[in-house]
Amino acid sequence: MDVCPVGAITTRDYRFKSRPWDNPEAVDTICTFCEKGCNTTEWLRAKPEWAKGARLIRVTPRYNPDVNGYWMCDIGRFDYHWIESDDRLQRPLLRTGAGAQEPVDWREALTKLADYVTAAGGPGALRFFVSAHASLEELFLIGRLGSAFGVPEDGVAVGWRTREKPQPSQTKFRISAVDAPNVNGARDLGFPVNRDANGAANVTAFRQAVEQGRVKALYVFDPGPNGSIGDVSWIVAARHSGKLPLLIVQGVLFSHLAKAADIVLPGASSSEKDASYVNEQGRVQASSSAIVPPGDAQEDWQVFVNVGRALGAALEYTSSAAVRGDVAGAMKGHEGYAGLAMLAFVRPVSARNWLQASNPSERWKWDVMFQDLPPVKFAGRPEPTSIPGAIVLQKVER
Ligand code: SF4
Repeated sequence: MDVCPVGAITTRDYRFKSRPWDNPEAVDTICTFCEKGCNTTEWLRAKPEWAKGARLIRVTPRYNPDVNGYWMCDIGRFDYHWIESDDRLQRPLLRTGAGAQEPVDWREALTKLADYVTAAGGPGALRFFVSAHASLEELFLIGRLGSAFGVPEDGVAVGWRTREKPQPSQTKFRISAVDAPNVNGARDLGFPVNRDANGAANVTAFRQAVEQGRVKALYVFDPGPNGSIGDVSWIVAARHSGKLPLLIVQGVLFSHLAKAADIVLPGASSSEKDASYVNEQGRVQASSSAIVPPGDAQEDWQVFVNVGRALGAALEYTSSAAVRGDVAGAMKGHEGYAGLAMLAFVRPVSARNWLQASNPSERWKWDVMFQDLPPVKFAGRPEPTSIPGAIVLQKVER
């Protein structure tokens, strides 16, 4: 695929779905499907608004010698189709008196959210269960909301899924077991990040509080692929049993968790927003917006600002960059965060000719692909071959 010099080796995932010249735009970003944070390029298909099908047509690795070299794994390369799937949340949902979830507009959703939270004991009764797919900007806003509402320290928990991926023992490219991009970012911002001996999230105390009916209103933020927040069956069970009176879910997919919620707020995947994450090495990286969120879904920083306003906590932000600026200020002096405010977020750029669009590696191969290799030089003529039994050539001086 990427190393094929003529583009003859292709992937079944991409082959015959689009012609190379139909994908004229590319966005340099990162993969957020695990804690490694491979640098990638997302390729966009040009299509009119009314045409069916996805815009995000393939993902290829982007050279970064410090993170992923030239490579990426098959999870990041192929498991992105959920982003533009029919399972995406496109409008806020509200559970009616009859028990069904009805789509509503944002104004009604936020008005009802304020009513429901007031009935559950007010904003101070809210507790937050947050996926480690939350970006630095989103975590910062959750922290601001928690402070404004007076949520106690143990009223917030961070979850993620861990999965061992089968890999050769000698491989240099190791895929992280943690299926979330920002566990380190959550820890650095002061969130309770509890790892058990296997690196999995330990949320036992928080879970017990929910299961024992001590949480009156739970706000779950889950912007990652299905299941990446970790086990949430205990939340669904608590809501169904009535132990949890109010469940609010801000997410991207119509998951089991979203189906159990009283209010569902549609957010954005990492391909649909500018956001920053801290990978397993502690490296702050930018994930750039390649496409827009579907339907009425909003970027998650916007959702938090609007939820804050609805509940009486004024967060006066008008862009994710402004939030990031405040995160950078809060993390001043913290090693590794010095470049946060200057992170570069890119917009789609044109592949300059059909060859670049046809074979993504052509786009950068000749500039950077071989830069970490020593220059190949032949001093004089090659030595005679050392293959046993071969004819030994005489050196001829010219
Ligand atoms: S190793 Fe992780 S970050 Fe890299 S492509 Fe795979 S899932 Fe994405």
